[in-house]
Amino acid sequence: LTATDLVNTSLERIGEIDGTIRAFLKLDEEGARDRAKKLDDSGEFGPLAGLPMGVKDNINTRGVLTTAGSKILDHYTPLYHATVMEKLEKARANMIGKMNMDEFGMGSSNENSGYFETRNPWDPERVPGGSSGGSAAAVASGQVSFALGSDTGGSIRQPAAFCGVVGLKPTYGRVSRFGLIAFASSLDQIGPITRNVEDAAYVLQAIAGHDPLDSTSADVEVPDYLSALKGEVKDLKVAVPAEWMGEGIDPGVREKVEQSLKVLEDLGARVEEVSLPHIDYAVATYYLLAPAEASSNLARYDGVRYGLRVEGETLIDTFSNTRSAGFGEEVKRRIMLGTYALSSGYYDAYYLKAQKVRTLIRRDFENIFNQYDVVVGPTAPTTAFRIGEKTADPLTMYLNDICTIPVSLAGLPAVSVPCGLSGGLPVGLQIVGRPFDEAGVLKVAHAYE
Ligand code: GLN
Repeated sequence: LTATDLVNTSLERIGEIDGTIRAFLKLDEEGARDRAKKLDDSGEFGPLAGLPMGVKDNINTRGVLTTAGSKILDHYTPLYHATVMEKLEKARANMIGKMNMDEFGMGSSNENSGYFETRNPWDPERVPGGSSGGSAAAVASGQVSFALGSDTGGSIRQPAAFCGVVGLKPTYGRVSRFGLIAFASSLDQIGPITRNVEDAAYVLQAIAGHDPLDSTSADVEVPDYLSALKGEVKDLKVAVPAEWMGEGIDPGVREKVEQSLKVLEDLGARVEEVSLPHIDYAVATYYLLAPAEASSNLARYDGVRYGLRVEGETLIDTFSNTRSAGFGEEVKRRIMLGTYALSSGYYDAYYLKAQKVRTLIRRDFENIFNQYDVVVGPTAPTTAFRIGEKTADPLTMYLNDICTIPVSLAGLPAVSVPCGLSGGLPVGLQIVGRPFDEAGVLKVAHAYE
């Protein structure tokens, strides 16, 4: 099998199915063929060599259109690679194209893409989840071997759950954010979306590690994730937050999670119920902090430096015309929310208060991790919902992230691994670990898988 064969198979599959799924914003057919040919000529190999990969469109790719799903970056072609791209290029993975997403990562269904909706391969009437919906759908439908996503409040894990694939959000700081188009900088992390846990370990191995170009990247040693998979879960202490198994969680989802917990018990793990006392505030906290950071990060799209420009009579008109035309509804809503939360007079009441609650939520997890090795529950409260079902009410859409957001606020690593079907649709099991213990969550996921 050559790298060229792999590209051909991937492109063939894309030709067959992407008319229906619509996972790709941009194909890089020529680039992919060139890279494959070079690789075949060089005869160099490695675990990811030649593997067709999809890259979420908020990750900068040198010479290839990068829009973050937004019209405001319609024509933006980066001059540089994100650090993860440099690393994956060194590992000889082969990018096939850029994956659809909710604009700037703001959404849970891909319906907020500035371009089009991606569909769930299990049922094209349903959403693939979001915001890394294009990445998850492409992996689930066999268009690429693996993909990169990004996760701010669940955007790797929830689409992985909805599409029946594996999605890993690393600890905040584990993977460089250099070249990731910022949504909420204190939460954003890049991670793999793969068909199985072993693949996730390979991809994480390639992208993890300290990067001087990202000041929040952590200088923590990267272990060997592949050998970690061999570990046992016997006597492992598993905590299950009662709040993740009660009201608001679909009975079909709960049943599958309960069955998975039995499997872990059969493997020798000790499963106990715990409580996350401040979890009820997590969604509200996130929807203050994330928009506040976004309102600041998105200030740079002014029609002068990047992408779209809609001229006006004055400079202020140009700013305003560009931003009115370029940003979608959800992005505008969040810029307004965030600007309000940060404005003087409201800062203490909203932003500062939310920061304090974030600390309480982090401590809830710290307390649990004093006694337990992992925290386990559902990834999302439901299976994939119908296209259009939640678009009228942003609050019901926000609530789909109740299980992923607390983990993001605490900065912890978490994987979503498929744990069966409910009503014919995939359910995801979320396994959360101590800071920088990706090896631990991958081990449990692998043992379960
Ligand atoms: N769905 C959440 C939001 O809309 C999380 C998105 C993400 O993780 N990028 O903000």
